[in-house]
Amino acid sequence: MMAPMTITLAVANQKGGVAKTTSVASIGAALAELGQRVLLVDLDPQACLTFSLGVDPEDLDLSVHQVLTKGLDPTEVVLETEDGVDLLPATIDLARAEADLLTRTGREHVLKASLADLVGADGYDWILLDCPPSLGVLTVAALTAADGVLVPLQCETLSHRGVGQLLDTVHDVRRFTNKGLEVWGVLPTLYDGRTTHARTVLDTISQTYDLAVIEPPIPKTIKFAEAPAAGRSILATSRTSKGAQAYREVAANLIARAEAGRPKSRRLRTRP
Ligand code: ADP
Ligand code: MG
Repeated sequence: MMAPMTITLAVANQKGGVAKTTSVASIGAALAELGQRVLLVDLDPQACLTFSLGVDPEDLDLSVHQVLTKGLDPTEVVLETEDGVDLLPATIDLARAEADLLTRTGREHVLKASLADLVGADGYDWILLDCPPSLGVLTVAALTAADGVLVPLQCETLSHRGVGQLLDTVHDVRRFTNKGLEVWGVLPTLYDGRTTHARTVLDTISQTYDLAVIEPPIPKTIKFAEAPAAGRSILATSRTSKGAQAYREVAANLIARAEAGRPKSRRLRTRP
């Protein structure tokens, strides 16, 4: 089967605080640095991604909520950001989306349908979906719209709890709404490389669930705390930090993986 021109990845884990949003913003900025056209979609009613890219959700009249529930054209809502990525923002309205969509036929497909005009030859190279910390309607819609899933994971003793549940959801999505969904792997975040414990936890999870590990692990560093308030990703606020560098390597590895599954004539454009 031919690889799609646009790669849509859902960044999902129903646990909060595992760096889903940080990873979406940072990988997005890193892909943009490499010349890729990137759209980030904020699917969390907390709108942390929107805020962290310098947009105050309270200033917005329209968001991904109207796209999902009213069929609004997403291009009317997409914003450009200073990090070189486009953003389909969220507002607190999105908190109603789960309830609004619950009685709607085809709700699992609503995001995929909304993004249809943004994918393909003239669309984005990458669309990254920042999922909320639940396995509800929005996460299932994201998994249905995605080609692949990245699972950010903090490598601590209990972090495997929930991974099985997430993979059950992925399995259901494959069965009922998106046969082609692939798990690209776990992305170790908030990683403390000084201990062997983190590596042990990571190896255990990867073996238990037969999951690939996306390299390199993202080190735990205080620099990440400063970025969201500045309205820029860590790639801009702390250009040469280990965290920024790690996300650049992850982005390059994602491109390499995408290229491997793509016919030659359809290689991604990168800046010379
Ligand atoms: P999620 O979207 O999964 O809830 P966030 O991306 O919002 O997680 O991250 C949770 C918190 O952890 C935020 O305060 C963020 O700044 C911080 N954080 C994320 N990655 C790192 C890191 N590598 N080192 C230190 N703090 C981090
Ligand atoms: Mg988040």
